[in-house]
Amino acid sequence: MDGEERAADSGETIDVINPADGQVISRIARAKASDINRAVESSTTAFDDARWRGLAPSERTKCLLILADLLEESAEDLAILDCLDNGMPLRQSRGEVQSSIAHLRYFAGWATKIYGETIPARQDSKYFVYTRREPIGVVGAITAWNFPLDNAVWKIAAPLVCGNSVILKPAEETPLSALYLASLVQKAGLPPGVLNVITGYGEEAGAALCAHDKVDKVAFTGSTETARRIVEASTGNLKRVTLELGGKSPVLVMPDVDLEKVVPMVVQGVMHNAGQVCSAGSRVYVHKSIQKDFLELASNCATNIKQGPGLYPDTDMGPLVSFAQLDRVLGYIELGKKEGASLVTGGKRSGDVGYFVDPTVFANVTESMRIGREEIFGPVMSVFDFSTLDEFITRANFSSYGLAAGVWTHDIKVAHRLAAELRVGTVWINCYNEFDPAVPFGGYRQSGHGRELGIQAIDTYTNVKSVWVNLQ
Ligand code: NAD
Repeated sequence: MDGEERAADSGETIDVINPADGQVISRIARAKASDINRAVESSTTAFDDARWRGLAPSERTKCLLILADLLEESAEDLAILDCLDNGMPLRQSRGEVQSSIAHLRYFAGWATKIYGETIPARQDSKYFVYTRREPIGVVGAITAWNFPLDNAVWKIAAPLVCGNSVILKPAEETPLSALYLASLVQKAGLPPGVLNVITGYGEEAGAALCAHDKVDKVAFTGSTETARRIVEASTGNLKRVTLELGGKSPVLVMPDVDLEKVVPMVVQGVMHNAGQVCSAGSRVYVHKSIQKDFLELASNCATNIKQGPGLYPDTDMGPLVSFAQLDRVLGYIELGKKEGASLVTGGKRSGDVGYFVDPTVFANVTESMRIGREEIFGPVMSVFDFSTLDEFITRANFSSYGLAAGVWTHDIKVAHRLAAELRVGTVWINCYNEFDPAVPFGGYRQSGHGRELGIQAIDTYTNVKSVWVNLQ
């Protein structure tokens, strides 16, 4: 904080656990309200004295590009840290680090491209009217544990490039790569206080940040339940809130596809990162005519996923992030069995060391079952059957969420009709979970509001000011 590492005021710490074996690997500061007050003071001062927002935009670009270079130099260390506290396979965390670097570089370029407009209001000869785009102030950024570095970089790059000060609170389960990132920030030339990273529990540090009157905006990635608390906490100063939340994303598989090619991608769309992906395509609607073949192939693919600690080179899927998450996922699996879904493969904990769950496929799932409606956030695929496209559209849209959807078909008319009719923030056609820093991402309905990535992210971290100049 303020360019220096410091302990929590209370001196208390939180254990960080390796989910592959349940062992404590580190301890982090347990920040509470007094620490948050200090961080907000530091960030407010940094904003007020314009040490960052007052720089030439190209200077902000330069600092963020240096930060990206520093991440690149430390790429392997960062990948190992995410692998250690999150559990993800090293192969995957290496990719995550590269996408974080690309993200920073993309947003770095925006600094020189954020500008207002001139507006022909009334008569030109009487008034000169223009807009300015200005940073909002102090941004509280709160992230989930599923992609620790990516989540952190998504949450800091856009607000920083716009000239805001940012206080980042990573998830308590996976703080290590965010702390490493914090250690590089000054070397990149960002002045002290512009980015403060605070660790702590959500209900202590996170809640204090969201309730603070000098925080101008909260950008949150996490669960829909927590989002409700954050919105309530924001009412004091009516701070802006953007929310990237959960989902139960529907995926359509039409009979015209090559199942041998498509099924592995559909399975991957659910099982990637052990299913702990907000946009996981976990509601899979397979046309009645191909159910049997689909299930056979999906079951084979799921069974062939090699589980293990993330650091093992041949691991495809790591453990779930925590014991709490393991318990939650196993609870849903039991519920699915009780609700009458047919267990095709998996359905149990794998071993008794670490938090592993066998990749699981349920068939004959319906929307009346909780496993067919609620986000499980684990390696569990729910397969539904359907007969007509109209039926699919109605059932796919029968959800409190609206984050993403997938469509697998060769029929261009079907694909574009669904792209228009599905009430979700992203539709992937014959692909899944593709991301690029230039392409907006976010939810409809209870999957959140506001967008990350692309120009839309810049919009959410700037205020528009209108200026009227009387020319007479
Ligand atoms: P969570 O809501 O429990 O926690 C997320 C963050 O919020 C953590 O940093 C936590 O400490 C903090 N927090 C908890 N209570 C808080 C409070 N009262 N006030 C302020 N902060 C608080 O979510 P999780 O279990 O860590 O993550 C899983 C969820 O995140 C899933 O629902 C998933 O879909 C969602 N997610 C969404 C996206 C997206 O982009 N849409 C991306 C990743 C994860």
